[in-house]
Amino acid sequence: MSTEIISKSNRGLISENHPLAPLTTWRIGGAAARLAAPADLEDVWGLMRLAYDRGWPLFFLGRGSNVLIDDAGLPGLTLHLAKSLQGLERHGETLRAGAGVALPRLAQAAAKLGFAGFEFLAGIPGTVGAGVRLNAGAEGQSLAGVLKRVWVATPQLQLLELTPAELGLGYRTSLLLNFPHWLVVEAEFNLAHPAGPEAIRARMAALIARRKTRQPANPRSCGSVFKNPAGGPPAGRLIETAGFKGHRLGDAVVSRKHANFILNAGRATAAHVKALMAHIQAKVWQTQGVALEREVVLLPEDLS
Ligand SMILES: Cc1cc2nc3c(=O)[nH]c(=O)nc-3n(C[C@H](O)[C@H](O)[C@H](O)COP(=O)(O)OP(=O)(O)OC[C@H]3O[C@@H](n4cnc5c(N)ncnc54)[C@H](O)[C@@H]3O)c2cc1C
Repeated sequence: MSTEIISKSNRGLISENHPLAPLTTWRIGGAAARLAAPADLEDVWGLMRLAYDRGWPLFFLGRGSNVLIDDAGLPGLTLHLAKSLQGLERHGETLRAGAGVALPRLAQAAAKLGFAGFEFLAGIPGTVGAGVRLNAGAEGQSLAGVLKRVWVATPQLQLLELTPAELGLGYRTSLLLNFPHWLVVEAEFNLAHPAGPEAIRARMAALIARRKTRQPANPRSCGSVFKNPAGGPPAGRLIETAGFKGHRLGDAVVSRKHANFILNAGRATAAHVKALMAHIQAKVWQTQGVALEREVVLLPEDLS
């Protein structure tokens, strides 16, 4: 593995041919042609500029809990944010979090400060940045309910400040889905509901326990593969009705506990998972007339 120093401060190290499967919850996918973990916003600009100058396609990766990376890996440059942009600070009645902050850490921080409303994030294994992009949520709540504003870095090297209304947050959607090269760098959340830290922690523990009864124990998944269609049965029920529980393609297996989860039971490949997803979509459409929409992001396809 070779490295190249791209900034004077010696922070923007790029590793080449870096395996990506270990950086995803599914543990699937090839290598990144180049991978860098920006130290701060200045580093983000430097890396974006470098990608632009060299004509490298640019990809973002948080904690890899909502992506399926192709078996051939990713060309260009991948910015890995799971350990970057980790600032988490109270500013009066708000909490500011860097894009790389894990959502459970955000929930814990709010609890520690004595503010409720973030408990639903305790069991979502992603980052703030990717969470905003898809308006992560659970238990009838979503980031839209606590978000005050976000800062986004664009490939034109602009820093945009956007409100939730400007972001168009909805069920697993936002304007950012139309701008896949915009990087959320920071988000600010309202601390609006004071409560006792112990009561907040008890609620978080209860939600996590509930999750365990409903979701598979195998951590090698991406959570829900498909979005729940509006106004109908949830995706898991549709997939179960179509007879897919336990269905296997290679080592990609539809969970028997929750049919909207596809598990990596060993050495599943992206090709297996994609074929299984296509099979599920076709059969649910044929048998129940519902077009299932993917929640999980396919890289590089969805950015091409
Ligand atoms: C067991 C399990 C349970 C889950 N439960 C839930 C749940 O209850 N609710 C829910 O909403 N989700 C759930 N998820 C899905 C996932 O955790 C969320 O979608 C999460 O927000 C993804 O964050 P990430 O950092 O892992 O994103 P990644 O998978 O790394 O990336 C996802 C997408 O976001 C983009 N991205 C990453 N960082 C940024 C950034 N800073 N700015 C812009 N784009 C970015 C990537 O390019 C990619 O397109 C679950 C996943 C698992 C594995």
